[in-house]
Amino acid sequence: MRKKVIAGNWKMHMDLNESIGLISGIKNGMTNVNSKVILCPPYTSLETASTLLKGTEIGLGAQNIHFEDTGAFTGEVSAKMIKSVGCQYVILGHSERRAIFNESDEMINKKIKKALSEDLNVIFCIGETLEQRESNVTKDVVGKQIKLGLEGIAPEQMKNIIIAYEPVWAIGTGKTASPEQAQEVHLFIRELVGQLYNNEISDELIIQYGGSVKPANASELLSQNDIDGALVGGACLEAESFLAIIKAV
Ligand code: PEP
Repeated sequence: MRKKVIAGNWKMHMDLNESIGLISGIKNGMTNVNSKVILCPPYTSLETASTLLKGTEIGLGAQNIHFEDTGAFTGEVSAKMIKSVGCQYVILGHSERRAIFNESDEMINKKIKKALSEDLNVIFCIGETLEQRESNVTKDVVGKQIKLGLEGIAPEQMKNIIIAYEPVWAIGTGKTASPEQAQEVHLFIRELVGQLYNNEISDELIIQYGGSVKPANASELLSQNDIDGALVGGACLEAESFLAIIKAV
């Protein structure tokens, strides 16, 4: 039985004081929790978050890294750097990084390899646009993102990868994929990973759903066979709604 994993992607929200408030609200409500919880604040709050989360089961992740260790890359942050402030996770391939910052599958693959080489766990995001869904190419798009993103990743490294299926048309729009729509793509992803690796790896793979997950829709989504958790944007910015999603498991 796969343990559900609920991650909060804070995006470019929460200054340091706001971060401290949100973390304390989440910590205070973490009773009777059956899932793994991961918080992904902005870089500026990571070190403080790491201190505040010490002694808890809550994981800490960043929202991006560069694929080099060091160098003349103004404004960038490396895997080693986020590790040094206490991160165990990093989100890579988010659709906002792909669309706004022109990240290619090849670049995302390099970042995944770098993160794994630093013993970080990766939340690897994939998903189709509305136009792609309406043209019936969802599985082609998602399949290609997976094959290119995981190119050269060894079977033994797959235990450190979570895949987050996030249909782009459902992110921040209030439109959620129906549980059946999401389940269909999740099953496709699991079968594809089974073909690329083996059944043991695909059975253990955590596949999160992301895209307007809210307290009201979380339990139905999370009860699908192949939905092993959620990557939450908007609803993770308030302790109450994020805790309600965590407790929907
Ligand atoms: C996200 O950005 O990963 C996300 C799922 O956002 P939202 O929950 O706001 O749709």
